[in-house]
Amino acid sequence: MAEEKLQRLEVVTPQERVYSQDIRFVVLPGAEGELGVLPEHAPLVSALKTGLVRVQNEGNTLKIAVSGGFAEVRNSKVTVLANAAEREDQINIERAKAAKERAEQRLAAKDPDIDLIRAEAALKRALNRLRATGQA
Ligand code: ATP
Repeated sequence: MAEEKLQRLEVVTPQERVYSQDIRFVVLPGAEGELGVLPEHAPLVSALKTGLVRVQNEGNTLKIAVSGGFAEVRNSKVTVLANAAEREDQINIERAKAAKERAEQRLAAKDPDIDLIRAEAALKRALNRLRATGQA
């Protein structure tokens, strides 16, 4: 059987290396839509939105929640650089639920002093973390 082609995926934040493995296929939450990347993909740089990095390896899929950032693809290496990123096993579900409720309350209060964009971004991050863990 032909040797399967793999590519390196690295997901890093200012705090830690969240993921570093040779993988088969990854889907990135590109700012302009999902980006599926196989080994030997053409070089690219893309902004990412808050969303899920889906890693496919030998039949299983791992989800990594990222809060924006950038991806670079080059020489069968995919690098994701994000302010915050958590593998599904790192996510504290109660914390994400609490963040979701706080953001929803801020948005519902219609207080002219609240920063709507910030509250919406916080809600997106919380929902994304819940989605990564199958809670939303
Ligand atoms: P919170 O209001 O709960 O702090 P947040 O969306 O404002 O949520 P971020 O600013 O995106 O948090 O992240 C700050 C740090 O906390 C990052 O290192 C991020 O990975 C981590 N983090 C945030 N929420 C969670 C969570 N639910 N589980 C695990 N780590 C989390």
